Amino acid sequence: MPIKVLPPDLAAKIAAGEVVERPASVVKELVENSIDAGSSQITVEIKAGGVEQIRVIDDGHGIPADEVRVAFQRHATSKIDTQEELDSIATLGFRGEALPSIAAVSHAVITTRQPLNTGGFRLDLLWGEQESSSAQGCPPGTSIEVSNLFGNLPARRKFLRSNSVETSRIQELVSRYALVFPGIRFQLVVDGRISFTSPGNGLGREALLSVYGPQTATAMLGIQEDNVETGYQVEGFVSAPGLSRANRSYMSFFVNRRWVQSRMLSYAVEEAYMGLLQVKRFPIAAINIIIPYEDVDVNYHPSKREVRFREESRVFSTVQRAVRGVLVADSPVPSLASPVETDYQSATPTSFFPRSAFGGVRIGGGMPDYSRGLTGELSDPAVPRQPAPPLKVVGQLKLTYIVAEGPDGMFLVDQHAAHERVLFDRICTKKEGQEAQSQPLLEPVSVELTPSQGDTLKSNQEELGLYGFQFEPFGISTYLLRAVPAIFSDGDPEKSLLDVLDMAAFEGLVRQKEDVTAASIACHGAIRAGKSLTEQEMVALLEQLESTPNPHTCPHGRPTMVHFSSIHMEREFGRR
Ligand code: ADP
Ligand code: MG
Repeated sequence: MPIKVLPPDLAAKIAAGEVVERPASVVKELVENSIDAGSSQITVEIKAGGVEQIRVIDDGHGIPADEVRVAFQRHATSKIDTQEELDSIATLGFRGEALPSIAAVSHAVITTRQPLNTGGFRLDLLWGEQESSSAQGCPPGTSIEVSNLFGNLPARRKFLRSNSVETSRIQELVSRYALVFPGIRFQLVVDGRISFTSPGNGLGREALLSVYGPQTATAMLGIQEDNVETGYQVEGFVSAPGLSRANRSYMSFFVNRRWVQSRMLSYAVEEAYMGLLQVKRFPIAAINIIIPYEDVDVNYHPSKREVRFREESRVFSTVQRAVRGVLVADSPVPSLASPVETDYQSATPTSFFPRSAFGGVRIGGGMPDYSRGLTGELSDPAVPRQPAPPLKVVGQLKLTYIVAEGPDGMFLVDQHAAHERVLFDRICTKKEGQEAQSQPLLEPVSVELTPSQGDTLKSNQEELGLYGFQFEPFGISTYLLRAVPAIFSDGDPEKSLLDVLDMAAFEGLVRQKEDVTAASIACHGAIRAGKSLTEQEMVALLEQLESTPNPHTCPHGRPTMVHFSSIHMEREFGRR
């Protein structure tokens, strides 16, 4: 065959192969575009593993109507325009390949509107060719719908795994972005059901909670290191040594918040755990390395998954030292050599519990385990249940913690977590006893729900009723609220329902337990951090906490109290 230039549609299909390997790669490119567009909310909807449909909706800066068609041309980008910019890339995208590649192998529909414009624009493409375009009203931001992926590339379709495998790749991907962009609210909807939501409130710890669930998240240690020697920064979370996994897939790395795969970085972390984990056990980690843009080449791999560092050993040692640093700070004094796992099993009450990063001891935690359920019931026979110690109030700290004296030292009690536990147990007991606990409203209140709140309400309808909410449909997305749980009787009834729905949705992602609703109700009703408490209030709260069957953790599994033992204090002050 003579040499000839391929026709453009065939060339486009071949090029698409590099960028669009599978549904998760489409989601990755679209989500990265939404992040680059400065979005604060990104929703990903997929059907049938993403093959039937992927839709990514954002509230970012949108695309001007007259540039939408250009965006679907190869090498069309708004993100760089000079060689210098290529050397220090701050955006996730820069090659201008994703949209044309995705459109070449699917039916793609984009609607987009710049926030200051009144109207939007819609463009439909089939296998890369424009089908139609028109002005269209839409919310500010961009929505891209990709259907029938690889419909024109049957060979590629055959290589896809089952829908559930493709779905889980997408779930993993979205949760990784949620970890490293805690300021963005991510939502993933799988076949019409919300499968994941991150809070998007900017707090890394809460993003972590949304991804890993309360118990694992509680056992993770925060890293925030500004290495003066190397000039690099490391931030993120790693698991305390007592928590480990059987493979490396729970370690995620980001360079300037770009998700990368790197053997070197996982070695750096594994090395930091040397002597702390058993063989063939690996930590959970989500680590972002912040380095000057010009010290990393992101234009190295076709799918931008791998990057090249100008000074690899500097990156290695920064990460290794940062991780080791938090592990040393967390581990029991003085021996680092013995795995902390063994320490949890030992019989002495104070060394039994995992240590917090502050040298205090979390009470009642034992090793977190999903199977234990939301109540934090310590039903595992290896973890004896401990009653709450009798506590004497000393004062309040940072309007958040109650400082108390106990039989063996000082206790800091988290007022919100403690009150949540008290309310949760009260709600559960009442439910079992079937006592009326509903407070009818004098006037019914109409409450408008978002689709996801509506879904949560429908799937938890019976539970919400049992706990004291009474409502009925009143239009498509509106409900008439007639009664609220008695513990909310002095609050704003609409807000109480909305908060509980949001929390129930959030918790439901973690596990499908029936007591999710009770925990959400308890959390909503509980005293917030930041509230000044009188001495009588503190005394009453501690007494109530003492009388609950599971005083040591809140219904989400967070500790209610941290113990600073007399021995620990004496050691700290050099008295021993
Ligand atoms: P790249 O991201 O490498 O620039 P893409 O093909 O992914 O290339 O996107 C092309 C261009 O389309 C981007 O440079 C950007 O200007 C625009 N664009 C794509 N997606 C969005 C979005 N969700 N919001 C705003 N602009 C977008
Ligand atoms: Mg892009």
